[in-house]
Amino acid sequence: MKSENILLYESKKADKVIKHCKKCNNCWEKLLFQINGAGGRMESKHRKYVLTHQDFPSYGKTKETCPTCLGLTSYTQSVKGFIVKEIIKS
Ligand SMILES: [Zn+2]
Repeated sequence: MKSENILLYESKKADKVIKHCKKCNNCWEKLLFQINGAGGRMESKHRKYVLTHQDFPSYGKTKETCPTCLGLTSYTQSVKGFIVKEIIKS
């Protein structure tokens, strides 16, 4: 069964979760996806991703260096239509 990945996207709390990185001057947030395993086997594995918002108003956002600038992320990939980078270290 090809289950949809469950998106635990906390959009309702966007103002709180979106942060502003002063190094790259982008706003960013962490996304948590539940990845269901292939072949009908359910692995409830959660993976963390970084979504970068370019041209996003940084006013009032928490200033925090993004995982990308900290070198914690892997390559850019598309997950559920979001262009994100996976956080591989924490
Ligand atoms: Zn950054």
